Amino acid sequence: MRVGLYPGSFDPITKGHIDIIQRSLGMVDKLIIAIGISATKTPVFTFEQRQAMLEAEIGPLAKAKGVQIQVISFKDLLVNVAAETGANLIIRGLRNASDYEYEAQMSAMNRSMSSDIETVFLQASPEVGFVSSTLVRQIMAMGGDVSAFVPQSVLKQIK
Ligand code: ADP
Repeated sequence: MRVGLYPGSFDPITKGHIDIIQRSLGMVDKLIIAIGISATKTPVFTFEQRQAMLEAEIGPLAKAKGVQIQVISFKDLLVNVAAETGANLIIRGLRNASDYEYEAQMSAMNRSMSSDIETVFLQASPEVGFVSSTLVRQIMAMGGDVSAFVPQSVLKQIK
């Protein structure tokens, strides 16, 4: 069974994340979306809100493709999360060279800690490759319109 693990902050989930999830559904039998929670950082959206938004957006897509889906929280080392959940593939999105620099280093370190986990990179789709949760949060904080960048469930939550 191919089990994918897609980790991130998803604060909030964007159309860029949805694109990566949609494309990765074709590569796995089960997809675990792992929301990183940190004791020191206060997110804009709670874990429960992020979980509900992800499930609302991804549930129907996954069902249509016959892929099992699970949305969990984590604060542990990612390789430990992979071992605990039985994931054999980490999925990450690449938007630009700075994503690459960071991701290449992280995947190499993860592989040296756990040789049986492979990281798969999906190149961001051009239509959403510029979208980032950080910028969405900044626009939201200044009262701007983020409807081009986030899915319906997030817009509802913002309202
Ligand atoms: P982090 O907080 O770990 O940077 P994010 O929650 O922003 O993570 O994103 C999780 C993953 O999704 C990362 O691999 C990131 O590169 C990818 N990602 C984020 N936004 C996009 C986008 N617009 N297109 C493609 N991949 C993206």
